[in-house]
Amino acid sequence: MHTVNLDGNNIQVGKIVCIGRNYAEHIKELGNKVPDKPVIFMKPASTIIASGEKIVIPPYSQNCHHEIELAVLIGKEAKGVCAEEALDYVIGYAVALDLTLRDVQNAQKEKGLPWEIAKSFDTSCPLSAFVPVDQITYPQKLQLKLTVNGQTRQDGNTSDMMRTIAELISNVSSYFTLEEGDILLTGTPAGVGRICSGDELEASIEKIGTLIVSVA
Ligand code: MG
Repeated sequence: MHTVNLDGNNIQVGKIVCIGRNYAEHIKELGNKVPDKPVIFMKPASTIIASGEKIVIPPYSQNCHHEIELAVLIGKEAKGVCAEEALDYVIGYAVALDLTLRDVQNAQKEKGLPWEIAKSFDTSCPLSAFVPVDQITYPQKLQLKLTVNGQTRQDGNTSDMMRTIAELISNVSSYFTLEEGDILLTGTPAGVGRICSGDELEASIEKIGTLIVSVA
């Protein structure tokens, strides 16, 4: 069981719903096609680690990639909601990393198999503290930046999302009921790359905060 704190309240995390291919430049760098519908997968709450903790890359991968993403915390049940009302269901924002075993993911893709073993390993979802929604006036206008050992790798803006947070919540809620404590990861901008043992990662999103993790 994993909880996050928001405004002094502990909220139990449910599912983590992740969006793939939501920034055009990132789609290009991996040679993927622009999807006609959002690409959706999930991570269990057991993947979460906090700032200051260590990433453990599983022995079956030689190529773990960082992906900085804006995390959205859902505050009440959302089922089939329209985009116009979707942001009413959001109670907080945080900085997340969607760590991905790219070699394992590519092998799974080639075979047409699901991505969980590449996306849902323990420690694959470092997550900062959540900031209450009322402190973030323009969530679609936030700079995201990730450095590895002090060198900038990813530097993007949530304004470059192909589908907005509201559109994503609406779309996801047409497939699954979102519940209090569910988290949505909204995709990563360009610049993803490999991390190795000993690397220090600093992921920050304007007005939200900074997440610092290292690789064991
Ligand atoms: Mg991602």
